Amino acid sequence: MLGTAKNITVSSNGGKWFVSIQTEREVEQPVHPATAIVGIDVGITRFATLSDGSHIEPLNTFRKHQTRLARYQRAMSRKVKFSNNWKKAKAKVQKIHTRIANVRRDFLHKTTTAISQNHAIVCIEDLQVRNMSKSAAGSSEAPGRNVRQKSGLNKSILDQGWAEFRRQLEYKQVWRGGEVIAVPARNTSRTCPACGHVSAENRQTQAKFGCVDCGYEANADLVGAINVLERGHRLLACGVGAVRPSAKQEPAEATKREACSCIAP
Ligand SMILES: [Zn+2]
Repeated sequence: MLGTAKNITVSSNGGKWFVSIQTEREVEQPVHPATAIVGIDVGITRFATLSDGSHIEPLNTFRKHQTRLARYQRAMSRKVKFSNNWKKAKAKVQKIHTRIANVRRDFLHKTTTAISQNHAIVCIEDLQVRNMSKSAAGSSEAPGRNVRQKSGLNKSILDQGWAEFRRQLEYKQVWRGGEVIAVPARNTSRTCPACGHVSAENRQTQAKFGCVDCGYEANADLVGAINVLERGHRLLACGVGAVRPSAKQEPAEATKREACSCIAP
């Protein structure tokens, strides 16, 4: 164990026990081993698309386990509460929940570690994940529109854990001496990377980008990632909020940058 133990937490989840030990020690300000900078676009059909052209397929863990989960939940509801059979059914439901959470955590950690190892600077869209995933149902005074589509989208957003993806990227970059730059998300999917023309018509389908002005064509998610990278470069160039994160700061605060006026959306 490195450093001095500060506190020890024992917890139980899904029938397993966990011990976590928090330690404290002095560390040198790390220098990131890589020099590359990358832009990332997150989405539904592809979990993440990188500006270098590579992408990561989504992991729809919840969907895959949803049917099984529903079956066990129904079985549980038919049992007499607190009976032995009810307890058995409840344990099964909890096991599926734990399984989903584990698979998702593993996926996110592998993904964020690989991205963080290979890039000193990671540019992402400053998406308001919390707003996007909040209830689409609205209130009785202002009922939500497209509730069904939105709740489908919300489930996907939550399922893929974009907020957790960003959180992990941010602290892993701080560990390695790298950085995460959040850029304004507006029009990243509608701007032509070749000529700069902004139009909703550039986005021909969910998957295809075709500039109506210069004819540039590419995968729509890749275009998003290229635009995110471009905005990241501009933020770096004008140096707004160019504060290197220090190990003492909270990762989320340390890597936060203010949007700067040099980016005209
Ligand atoms: Zn164009």
